[in-house]
Amino acid sequence: MYIESMYQQLGVSPEVTRFGQDILESLKDRFAQIDAVAEYNQGKVIAAMQKNRVNATHFAATTGYGYDDEGRDNLERVYADCFHTEAALVRPQITCGTHALTVALSANLRPGDELLSPVGRPYDTLEEVIGIRPSPCSLMEYGVTYNEVDLLPDGTFDYEGIRKAIHEKTKLVTIQRSKGYATRPSFSVQEIGELIAFCKQCKSDIICMVDNCYGEFVEIQEPSDVGADMIVGSLIKNPGGGLAPIGGYICGTKECVSRCAFRLSAPGLGQEVGANLGLMPAFYQGLFLSPTVVSGALKGAIFAAACYEKLGFRVIPPAAEERHDIIQAVELGSREGMVAFCKGIQSAAPVDSYVTPEPWPMPGYDSDVIMAAGAFVQGSSIELSADGPIREPYAVYFQGGLTWYHAKLGILMSLQKMRDAGLIQL
Ligand SMILES: *Cc1c(COP(=O)(O)O)cnc(C)c1O
Repeated sequence: MYIESMYQQLGVSPEVTRFGQDILESLKDRFAQIDAVAEYNQGKVIAAMQKNRVNATHFAATTGYGYDDEGRDNLERVYADCFHTEAALVRPQITCGTHALTVALSANLRPGDELLSPVGRPYDTLEEVIGIRPSPCSLMEYGVTYNEVDLLPDGTFDYEGIRKAIHEKTKLVTIQRSKGYATRPSFSVQEIGELIAFCKQCKSDIICMVDNCYGEFVEIQEPSDVGADMIVGSLIKNPGGGLAPIGGYICGTKECVSRCAFRLSAPGLGQEVGANLGLMPAFYQGLFLSPTVVSGALKGAIFAAACYEKLGFRVIPPAAEERHDIIQAVELGSREGMVAFCKGIQSAAPVDSYVTPEPWPMPGYDSDVIMAAGAFVQGSSIELSADGPIREPYAVYFQGGLTWYHAKLGILMSLQKMRDAGLIQL
């Protein structure tokens, strides 16, 4: 078969290719569902672009202060319409997801206010933003206190605990949609909606912010459709569609977003300044491609889960489980397994395919870390990548893939390297 010979040319043996093809047969219905979500979300993006009459003038570069930047302002209207919010801040000056979250939090919390996470400990980098780990300029330093309520042992919300934790100083609730690199489940948009409704029932004027990283376009609804006052994310993840080289977004109520703009630039200036530096074509086109890119990444995650589950490895989430983000963890059980897996992902890359990933002592981690990525945009995790700390349970976190075919090749190559190392038998 010609596809087998192409894979062979890329380094995948016919046995591995056939193993993958058999797995794929069993995933046809799942893939059809994913395609249906992508089709719906593609429509959503196109409708928002049509409503705002996107045209070539919106792709023009601006420099300097960026006053009257119509391309930038219109992109923000497109994001707001796409995510059904009153307003949006979408900027290259937002350097990453952590920065977007920092802007959203510090703009809407004042001294004496309390921040509550009702879903347990937030993403690693937020610990310093909040001041859970002391850090210069943390919210804690500015007199914002923090409280968290852990999930119940079965991964559901501790409603009783949350009710007790909300008091008159509780100003903002932060809800992380994706599990990130934690072991808890990721939440569906519906679950997030229930949690938001509960928090607002406890205190009607509470601001609900959702860390939407890795979740955009995975479902047909977003947290902003179920009551979130702000949704926040990175453009080098899902909504940048692989084309945005930098940036972040905050979509939400006019009041919240306008405060974010004043915090990002300066009081009095707000959304009026911020040149687009020629990035508008990438931002518009990236958003346009994002639903399809996300669908490819989701297929890759499910394919990886199904392959490794079949081989007896623990995968989180399991292959059959409904998806709420694009991250897949595979517990390989050994250092050798992690290295082989990551070598496979690396050798399938369009960029840097010739380098060999090795575990190294990364600052901030208490064990060696291995990473595989060969991306057009450095650090982009909507592009195919895998990483993990070298310690029990020896799990790699796998995500992304700008196209399904690339994600598939990466997984086949990982299987090939595992097999070459004598770690699996097909
Ligand atoms: C990636 C991520 C962040 C932080 O984004 P960076 O762009 O790496 O700063 C925050 N929260 C979640 C859930 C993420 O996945």
